[in-house]
This record gives sequence, structure tokens and C-alpha cells, in this order.
Amino acid sequence: MKDFLLSAAAGIDGDGPFKDRWYLLKGGVVVEKGSISSPPTLPAGFPEVKLPFITPPLFDAHVHLSLSGSYEASERERVSSLNREEGLLRIMELLERYRSMGIMTLRDGGDPAGLALEASKVAEREPGRYAKVLPSARPLVMKGRYGGFLGEAVASLKEALGVVDENLLGGAAQIKVIATGINSLTRAGDCGDLLFFPDEVAGIISRCDQENVPVMVHLNGPLSRVFLSKHKLPASIEHGFYLEGEDIARLAASGSFWTPTLTAWSTLLEHPGLTEDKLEVVALTDVEHSFEVGEGVGAGCRLLAGSDAGTPGALHGEGLFAEANALIKCGAPIESIFSAAYAYLKGWTQNYRSPLGEGVSASFLGWNEPLSNELKPPDYIYSNSSWSSAPPATNASA
Ligand SMILES: [Zn+2]
Repeated sequence: MKDFLLSAAAGIDGDGPFKDRWYLLKGGVVVEKGSISSPPTLPAGFPEVKLPFITPPLFDAHVHLSLSGSYEASERERVSSLNREEGLLRIMELLERYRSMGIMTLRDGGDPAGLALEASKVAEREPGRYAKVLPSARPLVMKGRYGGFLGEAVASLKEALGVVDENLLGGAAQIKVIATGINSLTRAGDCGDLLFFPDEVAGIISRCDQENVPVMVHLNGPLSRVFLSKHKLPASIEHGFYLEGEDIARLAASGSFWTPTLTAWSTLLEHPGLTEDKLEVVALTDVEHSFEVGEGVGAGCRLLAGSDAGTPGALHGEGLFAEANALIKCGAPIESIFSAAYAYLKGWTQNYRSPLGEGVSASFLGWNEPLSNELKPPDYIYSNSSWSSAPPATNASA
């Protein structure tokens, strides 16, 4: 279905939340839009689709396509020992699945083999079938420290910049730096070692700034561990557990994005392999983090929904809905899930076109009921000139 009038009683588009708007699609492209109080003149019988609510497609800002989200060690090992061809096939299946849930763009944290980068290139050739991947290629980890299974180990800024250049040349959409360790399961508040020195991270960001490429920095503990007051914050902070009080205001003022990955942590409460005392640490940390995220909402931080899918218990697809709903529980308005994603993609992806902008191949999600306080999978998905869901009724077919 390529030529039709889309009328939405309410929704969210590039201009934010709206009421009563129409979009005229020809050849799948939005050629004109306007307010329902002044409808366009169209030939009799021109198909019209009326939907109660529409939004742009969803964005998961933090995934690990190469990792299994299983709690089971055996399943995790099975996935990590797949050969390249099998591993790629597995990711392509995930990308089809993401798309069928309305999640059309994913920011991947990278893997040592560059598998998600390769998948992003395959996906690009068939955008009507696969979700788009923003790959990190090989993330930067410090030699001999946490994260060896995630990326390319370096031992100095010079080595780090070498890997940055290779990643950029290979087609990375952003650079990921694992700047600190991970939260302890035995001591609440212990966020692991500092892995990169502040000046090293600043050097990486300044190199990426020259190419206008965003840097996502995995960081737990006070911001000042990695970013001294003279340092500029990166495009996004990932996780950000145990930030200090003044960090929230600094983050809000910087305009940097924050991907708190609330549910990747809280899902550990369901982990069958954790002992009672570890579960207590998980619960304490979760309460603390939810509180910080709530403060972030109040301060006006730009929060991205990122599931961290692939880490134990964080599922590819479902994880984004869980994370968005966790952010909403912390006080984030549901429209901010879309507006933050929109702002990130507009600011940091090349050739970004607003999914419902004029002159753009339309891409949107439709719901039979207005979204209020919970994000659910959409009832309708339209992009690349066709419905990938069952099509809604039109006045022509009704
Ligand atoms: Zn992650």
C-alpha cells in the first residue's frame, strides 16, 4: 500500500506530541501533511487509513546482538561458540524479529569479532526486512581488565586511537569505550575499577569529534572518575550507576544522553543462579539506580531506552519494552521515550530523515488505543512502502 491518506487522532512525530493530523502518502513517501481541520482535496475513493495513535518506530539504544540473553551458562556458551556464519545467521534472525516488533533501529555495543558490524551491512541491503543496526565494531577495553569478551584490548591512548581509526574505517556508527568495570554483586556501591584514565577518554572523544562520530562510554560510579570538570561529556553515558548528586545536574546541562539500562540490572533479581546475599545487593543497587534515574527525569536529562539485550536475562526485543516501562515508572513521560530517541538519531546519525517528515519514505507505528502509561508492541507497522503488520482497515476496503 503506497498511496493513501493517513489520519491520526493523536500521536508523536518529529514535532513532538500532536492531535488530529493527516499525512498524504504517495509511493510510500509523505508528500504533504496538515491538520484534520483542513483536510486535503482528494479524488473520490482515495484510500484513507484512520488510526487512533501513531508514533515513529522504536529505537533500542543499547544492545549486544552477539550475546545470548539467557541466564543459562550453557546457552551463553553455545551462542558464543557459534562459527561466524552461524553467528551472523542468528543475528539476522534477531533483526527480523526486532523489526516485527516495531523496533527499527538498534545501537549495538560491539563485539570482538565485529559480527554486529557485518550484520549491519547485510541489513542495510534489505531495509524492508531487517532492523537497522548502528554498529560499534570493536569496543575499546583495557588490556587485562574487565570486558575482554566484549571488545578489543588496548594498553594506551595510542593503541586506543589505532582501534578507533580501524573501527571508523570499517564503518562503525559510534565508538564504545568501557571506561569502568561493572557493579559488584557482593558489595553494593562497588562499581569496579577505573579502566581508562580521564585524559585517555578525552583523547578518544576528541578524535571522534573530528569525524562527528558519537562516543558511548560505559561508566559506573561518579562521573568525575572519568570526566574531570575540564572534560567534555561524551554523546552518551551507558549505565551510570551510582552517579553522585551533582552529576545529574551536569549530565542534564551537557545535553549528553544517558542510557541507564535499568532492567538489565533488575532482571538479575530473577536470576536462578544468584544466592540470597547477592540478590540483596542487586535489590539495593536497583533501588538506588531507580532513584537516580528519577532525579535525572526531574533534572531534564535526556534518557535513552536501552535494554542491554544479550546480558543475562535481558531479551532481544522484549527487553526494550521492559526498559521503556521501567523508565516510565521512574517518572519519564512516555513521549520522552520517542523524543529522546528522535533527538539522538537526528543529532548523531548520518543522513537522518524524520520518519514522518515531508519528502521522506514514511515509517511509523500505529496503535488501536492511545499510548498512556505503558509501552506495548504496536498494532500496526508501516515502512518501506508496506505494512509489515496486518494492514489496518481503509475507507476503501471497509
Ligand atoms: Zn551493554
